[in-house]
Amino acid sequence: MITIEKFTFNSFQVNTYLLYDETKECILVDVACQDQNEREELHAFIKSNNLIIKAIINTHNHVDHILGNGFAKSTFEAPLLAHKDGEQFIRTAPASAQMFGFAFSETVYPDRYIDEGDKIEFGNSSLEVLHTPGHADGSICLHNPKQKIIIVGDVLFRDSIGRTDLPTGDYDLLNENIKKKLFTLPDETVVYPGHGPATTIGEEVMNNPFVKF
Ligand SMILES: [Zn+2]
Ligand SMILES: [Zn+2]
Repeated sequence: MITIEKFTFNSFQVNTYLLYDETKECILVDVACQDQNEREELHAFIKSNNLIIKAIINTHNHVDHILGNGFAKSTFEAPLLAHKDGEQFIRTAPASAQMFGFAFSETVYPDRYIDEGDKIEFGNSSLEVLHTPGHADGSICLHNPKQKIIIVGDVLFRDSIGRTDLPTGDYDLLNENIKKKLFTLPDETVVYPGHGPATTIGEEVMNNPFVKF
C-alpha cells in the first residue's frame, strides 16, 4: 500500500512527492527544495520515517522542479530518472533561473532514462510510466492502477492544465495526451499535480475548462 507525502517548495510552489510503502522503500518525485530550511524539512521527514530512497524521478525538467536534485542525489545516493526528451531543460536550467531572478548552477543529469510502459519498482509497489508531452518535452506521469493514483507533474491541475507557451509547449499535443492517457483512467483515480491541490480524473472530466473534446 503506497502512502503519499506532499511537500510544497520554492517560490514556484512546486509539489514534491514522497511515495513509500510498508517496506519503507521510497520514491522521490520532483525534488524542488531550494534553500537550507526546505532541504532540512525533507531530510527530517525521511530520517524520522526511516525511509530508504530507491530513486529520484523528474516528471519533467523545468527548473523549478529540479532545484533539489543535487542535494537529493548526494544525500540519498539514489539514481535520478527522467525521460530523455527533457534533457535540454537541464542544460538551460541555469539560464532559466537567471531569467526568473535567481541563481542555479547545480545541474544533475539523469542516471537512467524512463519511457512509456516502464515500471518503477520499490518495496512491494510499482509505478507505471506514461509519456505525456505537451507542457514540456519529456513530461511523464507515474500511475498505480491498483490504488488508482497518478502523479502528473504539470500536465493537469485542478481546473487547469500546464502552460503551453514555454519552449516545446504544444496545446494540441497536451490536450490529446490528457484525453487519451489520463481521461481514460477510472473516474475515482486521484491526481497529484506538480502545483496546487489533488483532484480526481472524474472531477476534471466534468469540470476542467481547458480540455477540449
Ligand atoms: Zn513545468
Ligand atoms: Zn511546474
